[in-house]
Amino acid sequence: MRYGILSDVHSNLEALTAVLDVLMTERIDRYVCLGDLIGYGADPSACLSRLQALDAVSVAGNHDQACLGTLDVEWFNDAARAAIEWTRDQLSFLDMDFLRRLPLREVAGPCTLVHGTLRHPERFEYLVEVGQALDTLKVCRTLLCLVGHTHLPCVIEYDRARHQLTRLLSRPEELETVTYVDRPDTMRYLVNPGSVGQPRDGDPRASCAVIDTDRHTVAIRRVPYDIATAQRKIRDAGLPAFLADRLAQGR
Ligand code: ZN
Repeated sequence: MRYGILSDVHSNLEALTAVLDVLMTERIDRYVCLGDLIGYGADPSACLSRLQALDAVSVAGNHDQACLGTLDVEWFNDAARAAIEWTRDQLSFLDMDFLRRLPLREVAGPCTLVHGTLRHPERFEYLVEVGQALDTLKVCRTLLCLVGHTHLPCVIEYDRARHQLTRLLSRPEELETVTYVDRPDTMRYLVNPGSVGQPRDGDPRASCAVIDTDRHTVAIRRVPYDIATAQRKIRDAGLPAFLADRLAQGR
């Protein structure tokens, strides 16, 4: 079985289209989406349509919940809040209904899906510290735990028998193909595929992951896309220019 893993699409249709064009050539059996489908970019409704057409297994992100009004935007910065308010006006009832149905966590085969952390999915914490990775991997009941939210790709290996994190991989060359040990009784893996629509690791190309459960591999893929068009649409929509500028930097 091959899973195509998407996260933090953030209404970037150009990035989503480029990623799906690549994944369509990779015999993906099931698509998975780790939240923040919308917010920041200029094509919220079109992105939701693409993801629904894929029948992707999805969880909710903080931007998805903020658009619904089920999460307070007081913690959002000015640009993010402006994007949420703009996005709300673009969504149909059907779009809203789709977002409302997204759970905070979900299980798909050997993968548990959550946007932030498994300890407190509803708090949308940024999983950036070793202690948080341990907390999430300790309560995860499947071999793989897929998270998004930070927009930073990584793979972390936890050996339950030794109570130790045994691998922390974040460099691009390390993430091209990671082989995991298929032992759900003793091992856990945290996988962050990076962000499709707003990468923040300094590489502006869209990021996604492919998990192959026959070969026991996780591969982080980087995909070039039409950044200039995504930027132009953001500016034309009257969204904060910063949201367009950052796409070219991957920050
Ligand atoms: Zn996000």
